[in-house]
Parts: sequence; structure tokens; C-alpha cells
Amino acid sequence: MTLRIAVIGGGIGGLTAAVALLQAGFDVQVYEQAPELTEVGGGINMAPNATRVLRRLGLAEGLDREGVRPLGTHQRRWHDGRTLQRAPLNPLCEELYGAPHMTIHRADLLSVIAAAFSAERVHLGHRLVGRADRGDGAEAWFDNGVRITADVLVGADGIHSAVRTALFGGEAPDFAGCVAYRGLVPAERIAALGLELGSQSWVGPGAHFVHYFVSCGQLLNFVGWTEHDEWNREDWTDRATVARALAAFAGWHEQVRMIISAAETCFIWALFDRDPLRRWSAGRTTLLGDACHPMYPFMGQGAAMAIEDGAALAACLRAIADPAEALLHYERLRLPRVTRLQAMSRANKTRFHLRDGPAQRARDAEWAKAGDRSPDALRWLYEFDPGVVAPVTV
Ligand SMILES: Cc1cc2nc3c(=O)[nH]c(=O)nc-3n(C[C@H](O)[C@H](O)[C@H](O)COP(=O)(O)OP(=O)(O)OC[C@H]3O[C@@H](n4cnc5c(N)ncnc54)[C@H](O)[C@@H]3O)c2cc1C
Repeated sequence: MTLRIAVIGGGIGGLTAAVALLQAGFDVQVYEQAPELTEVGGGINMAPNATRVLRRLGLAEGLDREGVRPLGTHQRRWHDGRTLQRAPLNPLCEELYGAPHMTIHRADLLSVIAAAFSAERVHLGHRLVGRADRGDGAEAWFDNGVRITADVLVGADGIHSAVRTALFGGEAPDFAGCVAYRGLVPAERIAALGLELGSQSWVGPGAHFVHYFVSCGQLLNFVGWTEHDEWNREDWTDRATVARALAAFAGWHEQVRMIISAAETCFIWALFDRDPLRRWSAGRTTLLGDACHPMYPFMGQGAAMAIEDGAALAACLRAIADPAEALLHYERLRLPRVTRLQAMSRANKTRFHLRDGPAQRARDAEWAKAGDRSPDALRWLYEFDPGVVAPVTV
């Protein structure tokens, strides 16, 4: 009998899992709290480990239509613009790993994934408020009064996951001490900068600034991270202005300031975090993406890990007949990899934000030598195939 799988959450992770599970032969329904499928924010970096999964799911044409293939990545110092390291990205990633590195607008990525999945299988306006295990399945209920049963329940409902709370308790995520100013700039407004079609990242004391093109090169996406001790939504909402972003990056290189000035609007995003979980599954329910392993975006891998999770989950459920056992195998396969990336992303917050001084000079010297952003150096990350159901030792 075909397994009935309910995915809670229609973000990048939930929808990718739904497509992967459907293509693996399961009967999948998605339940999303919002009245429509939306992604907040501008761009997202998709490294080859993520684009390979999406391309295998048949999404290559949509990605090529909407995305950008950056030529390279360039890390620079905050005030004088000196190069710290450069690395080629395309076509090298495709040659090395069989898939390109891409940058894409989040809303475009979500619609490319959603187009692979029948809209009748997506139930909007369904906010999960509870779930229970029923031995040979799981039951879930929503704020609109609807109750469902499924053979397997997948919580892909983000960092504030209600499924995670129902499974493992409800402590709130921690404020990570970082706030991002984000914006999109029409390319013609910054034509004078003569930027190549690539990604640049500027590091300085207590902050860093990243920009890359999205929407077929028509828009430049920027994210400027700054450190703060506290987050209080009410205090911060009025700070989402271009003038505030400029003030946060006072003294930074002219290019950074010109990009911020060219934005019409800018918004603020506070970063939250959780410690790694030891378990993701209980009975017939499991978690994926930010619901179980939120990470700082300083390796550009949060969504990529959610995408890999979906492919791994589908492969495990297809390979292992007992669904509860398949969920346990899935979590054991995924945990070491995502925990490593959580730790690396945390370490990058410190490395990117060093005050000028001996530690910063040592970092710069190391970067100049090691080229740790080059696709070659990230082989363990980029060539990984989440569709392989390897044995795991416990
Ligand atoms: C500034 C910034 C930059 C980033 N850059 C990158 C990058 O370059 N590359 C990268 O790979 N990652 C990046 N990330 C991380 C990435 O955005 C996340 O890891 C990814 O979006 C997580 O996807 P998800 O589907 O697990 O969760 P989410 O995107 O949070 O989706 C969860 C979905 O579940 C729904 N939902 C929530 N609660 C319920 C409920 N109770 N019932 C039903 N539905 C519910 C929500 O409405 C939402 O649609 C970045 C993050 C930030 C903040």
C-alpha cells in the first residue's frame, strides 16, 4: 500500500521534500499555515550540493530560467577593499561536481519547486497546533479545525517548529547576537560600479556585508550583518531604513555604501539559533530543515541542508520497509553532516567579525594561503549525495 505522507510547512525544505517523496512513489500532502506560498527576503546562494538535488528532481530548466551562475566569489576587507581571497565558481563547479553554484531570488526558487508539485496537494491556511502518534501512523490537527491522519508526518515548519515542540518540548530559540539589513538594488542603479556577475563578501569589525546578483542579473541582493546584544522587535522595526543601514556601515568602503544607498527600501532580520538536537524522530513523525537544525547563514548552507534532507528522507523511506525504522535511519545519516555545518557556521561568525589586530591579520594570511572558499577545498561538502542510503553505525 502506498504510504500517505503529510508534510507540515511549505517553505524551501518542505516543498523540496514533497517533490522528492512524490517522485519516490508516495502519496504526499503539504499543510502550510500561510494563505499563500511565500518566501521572505531577497536572494539565496545555492551551492552545487543543493542544485544537484534540485536538478535531479527535474528542476534544471526553472533554475536556469530564474537563477544566476556567479563567475566567482571575492572576499574583501571592509574599509580599503583589499582582496583577501578569490575563487572561481562557474563553470568550475559543474566540471567538478556536475552541478553549478547558483544565486537566485527566494520567491523564484520557491515557485520553481512548487511548479513540480500539483497545487491540489498544497493545503494553505492550515497552521498545525497539535499532533499525536497512533502506532501505525500519526494524527495532526490545525487551527482551522481540520484533523488529518497520515502514515508518516514530517515537520518542515521552520525554526519555530510546532512539530518539534510537540515532539521534544518548547524552549524558545536564542537570539544569535546578529541583525541583518537586507535589500535589493536594480542593476542599472549601480552600473557605475562595473561589478562582475559574481558574489562579494566584505569582512570587518563586528560586521560583514555580502552581495550577489539574482533575477537573471537584474537585481543585486545585499545582506549586511552587524552584531548586537539584544533584539526587541518593537525597538527595531523603525530601524529598517536605508539611512540606518548606512549608519551601521559608516566608515566602510565606498562600494558597500553605494550599494546600500541605491536601495529604495531595506528591511531587518534578526538571527536566531538553537543547539543541535540529538533526536529528530519519534515513532512515525520526523523533522527536517530549520525545524531540526537551524544554522547561522555563514556557510550559506541552511536551505541546502533542508533540500538534502528531503532527498535523504525519500531515499530512506523507499529503501527501508518499516517507516519508523526508515525515519531513524534518515536522522542518523543526516545528523553528523548538519551538526558539522552548524558548528562551522557558528565559527564563521567569529572569523568574519574579528576586530582589526593580530587575530585578523592571522586570519587574512590563512585565507590568502588556503583559499578555503574555493570549490576544490569544499569537496566533502559539494560532492555529497544525500540519495545514497549508506549503512550507519550507532
Ligand atoms: C539572511 C539569511 C540568509 C540566508 N542565506 C542562505 C543561503 O545563502 N543559502 C542557504 O542554503 N541558506 C541560507 N539561509 C538559511 C535558509 O534561509 C533556511 O535554512 C531555509 O529557508 C530553511 O527552510 P525550511 O523550509 O526548513 O524553513 P522555513 O523557510 O522557515 O519554512 C517553514 C515553513 O513552515 C511554515 N510553518 C511554520 N509553522 C507552521 C505551522 N505550525 N503549521 C503549518 N506551517 C507552518 C512557514 O510558514 C514556512 O512556510 C539564510 C538565512 C537567512 C536568515
